[in-house]
Amino acid sequence: MPPQFANYINGEWVATSRTFEDRNPANTDEIVGVFAKGSAADIDAAAKAAEAALPGWSSMPAPARGNILYKAAEILEKKFDQLGAEMTREEGKTLPEAKGEVRRAINIFRYFGGEGSRLDGVMVPSERERVHVFAIRKPIGVVGLITPWNFPIAIPAWKMAPALICGNTIVVKPASASPLCAWRLVEALHEAGIPKGVVNFVAGSGGELGEALVKAGPLKAISFTGSNDVGHWLHAEASKRRLRIQLEMGGKNPTIVLADADLKSAVENVVNAAFFSTGQKCTATSRAIVEEGIYDRFLEALVERTKKLKVGDGMTPGTDIGPAVDKGALETILKYIETGTKECGAPVCGGRHLTGGAYDKGYFVEPTVFADVKPEHTIAREEIFGPVLAVMRAKDFDDAMRIANDIPFGLSSSIQTTNLSRALDYVYRAEAGLLTINLPSAGVEYQLPFGGTKDSSFGPKEQGPTALDFYSDFKTVYLKY
Ligand code: NAP
Repeated sequence: MPPQFANYINGEWVATSRTFEDRNPANTDEIVGVFAKGSAADIDAAAKAAEAALPGWSSMPAPARGNILYKAAEILEKKFDQLGAEMTREEGKTLPEAKGEVRRAINIFRYFGGEGSRLDGVMVPSERERVHVFAIRKPIGVVGLITPWNFPIAIPAWKMAPALICGNTIVVKPASASPLCAWRLVEALHEAGIPKGVVNFVAGSGGELGEALVKAGPLKAISFTGSNDVGHWLHAEASKRRLRIQLEMGGKNPTIVLADADLKSAVENVVNAAFFSTGQKCTATSRAIVEEGIYDRFLEALVERTKKLKVGDGMTPGTDIGPAVDKGALETILKYIETGTKECGAPVCGGRHLTGGAYDKGYFVEPTVFADVKPEHTIAREEIFGPVLAVMRAKDFDDAMRIANDIPFGLSSSIQTTNLSRALDYVYRAEAGLLTINLPSAGVEYQLPFGGTKDSSFGPKEQGPTALDFYSDFKTVYLKY
């Protein structure tokens, strides 16, 4: 009998008559858990519980709220190995990647726990005599948090922790493909003694629950990470009610490789960013834009390195790349490989759906490289969200910048160069919110602003100090004394 996981509403674990299965994408025979499938009525109850809990939580001193986050971090720390293994089993990424993400979630709870003692406002001198002016932060109220499956513990953590430390109460809707990791965060907060109603968790179908959430009376804001289609729909709905909204969505991230780059490190960085986590990172590199002078050598070394990657169950030591998250994701990746083959010729490596033996139980695909892809080709323009890399030729630095920026997305971007002047020029010209130089385009840290530009994002940046700006508002005070 697989473990059962209830929803969490008003401090109680609430079972439902409907359920859904959370299966291991590396071995679909394995059911990781059976989850309560929430309804619009559950979202309603959760939003009302959050509203009722708001006065108590928002008036608790912020350092005391921080202590609850610290305590939850300690609880998560004790389950570190278990959480890593659960993530690999429900999402598919390799165990070292999963553990790295659990570490990040724990750090995020600690970081925002500390913000409880720092929640700053504004204090400046007044223009007038004997007038004292200052602005204090206040929470915005009940916040809905909708999260994707690809970073199943870090993303819920980086929304929940700043929302809570600012004094808001929350309703969390996790992705159906990987709800267990977010459930564990809620469990840790429950065990840490968070007052009832402050945190609510409702799993189930995104369409049904998303609509209920955006229409829930007590809701004041929504933070969403996921696809552009859903994000744009939510934005339109939220605008009708003037809800505050923050959207983090898709990307089509470039890595520019200039002729002066360190070839070995450029290849490693591109392989890491394009293929690790099965390319299922919003910050993954899906376009390598390579300057003419190094193109042939880069492509040859890239193909050689890519062919060495081991695809398999993320629990098996030595695996580099796990499965796609589910059947739909696998089919989308294979469809793009087919389109790429039609438009640009056969891939120079990979391209196959892996079958036979243990592969038959999961959703495995080879890391795939297409060469000489043109900016107008579909695989150079649309987000694939899988281990598929388009390698593109650029005449020079300016041409590479033009190709890199010529897309509607603007999440992450990278350059590989030993020329400091070019690197700085790139920083000013790249149309993306997250830039890396001589590093993979993916792999960000929690203590800095996170988010994109253009069609990738909307609203204040997540993580780091800027996270507080979305989850709080200012009250400005003028005092004559
Ligand atoms: P998704 O299909 O948009 O789902 C994201 C979340 O929205 C899930 O919880 C989903 O629930 C829910 N949802 C689905 N339909 C909804 C609706 N009509 N109203 C409200 N919520 C709804 O995206 P995904 O496939 O999970 O994630 C992949 C996408 O996320 C990619 O585009 C990736 O680039 C993006 N992403 C962006 C970032 C970033 O920071 N920019 C980070 C990670 C991922 P169900 O799971 O139940 O469908």
